Amino acid sequence: MLLAYDPIRRLARVQVGLEKSLVNARMVFEILDVEPRQADSIGAVPITVPTGEVQFDNVRFSYGNDVPVLHGISFTAEAGKTTAIIGASGAGKSTLIGLIQRFYDIDSGRILIDGQDIAYVSKKSLRQSIAYVSQQPYLFEGTIADNIRYGRPDATDEEVIEAAKLANADEFIRLQPQSYGTEVGENGATLSGGQRQRLSIARALVRNASILLLDEATSALDNESEKRVQQALEHVMQGRTTIVIAHRLSTIVNADHIVVMEAGRIVEEGVHETLLDVPNGIYARFYQLQGKEESTIIDDNSDMQPT
Ligand code: ADP
Ligand code: MG
Repeated sequence: MLLAYDPIRRLARVQVGLEKSLVNARMVFEILDVEPRQADSIGAVPITVPTGEVQFDNVRFSYGNDVPVLHGISFTAEAGKTTAIIGASGAGKSTLIGLIQRFYDIDSGRILIDGQDIAYVSKKSLRQSIAYVSQQPYLFEGTIADNIRYGRPDATDEEVIEAAKLANADEFIRLQPQSYGTEVGENGATLSGGQRQRLSIARALVRNASILLLDEATSALDNESEKRVQQALEHVMQGRTTIVIAHRLSTIVNADHIVVMEAGRIVEEGVHETLLDVPNGIYARFYQLQGKEESTIIDDNSDMQPT
C-alpha cells in the first residue's frame, strides 16, 4: 500500500534526517514529541483544552544568562480568535511562541491554557494540543505521506489526503512521481518553498489541535504559490486559537487582536482601528510607513521605533 505506515522505518529515517542536517531545536519540536528539556512536574496531569484560550500573566523570562528577554508579559489570546504579534527583530516574539510550547520554563508569572497553568500539565498532552507552523518548515527524509502524518501518527490515509487537500497540496502531490509515496529528500530538497509550506500546513491540519502557533514566512513566494499558501493558512486557522508572528500586512489588519512588542514588553495592543487612533502610537506610525502598499511584507528587521 502506498501510504503504508511503518513506525520503525519512519523513526530510522527521522534519525538519519536529524543527524545529517543541522536543525535547531525549534524545527525539531515542530514535528517530534522528543524527550522534553524540562521534565514534567510531579503529579503532572494531561491538559484538557475545551476552547483553547491562551493567557500570559506577568511572564518574565531570560535564557539563563541574566539578560531578561520578557519583562512581565500579560495578554490573552481569545479562544478561536487570531492574535497577531508584531515587533522589530529581537523584541521577543519567537521566545513568546516557544514558551507556550514549554521549550523553556519561565522565571515567574504563569501561562494558562483554558485556565490550566502549563507548568503543571504533562508536556506530551500540551504539545498534542498545539500545532506549530514555523517560518522554515522542517521536512525529514521520508515520503510526503510520512511528513504529513507526523502531525498525528495514527491519522488514516483518508485523513492525510483530506488535510493535503485543505492545504492546497493534494494537487502537486499527485503530480509527484510516486504521489504520496514520493520521497521528499533531505529537508524537502525536491520541493519548492511554497510546496514545503503547504506540507507543513497539512501536517498542522492533520494534528487537529485547538491552538495554532504560526511564524509567518518572510521569504517571498511567487504570487500563485503565495495565494495557495494563504488559502491553506485560512483553512488551518479556522475555528482555532491562532497566535501568529505576523509579517504580512493583511494578516495584521485582519487579526482579531494585535499585540505590539518592543524589547520584551507589550507596548500597545488592540484592534487595527483603535491602534490607528492612538496619538503618536507606535502601531499607527508603523502602519503609515508600511501600510501604503497593500501587499508589503513587513521586514522582520524593520525598526518600528518612532525616531
Ligand atoms: P524576535 O522573534 O522578536 O526577533 P526572539 O524571541 O528571537 O525575538 O529574541 C528575543 C531576544 O532573546 C533577543 O535578544 C535574542 O538575542 C535573545 N535570544 C533568542 N533566543 C535565544 C537563545 N536561545 N539563547 C539566548 N538568547 C536568545
Ligand atoms: Mg523571531
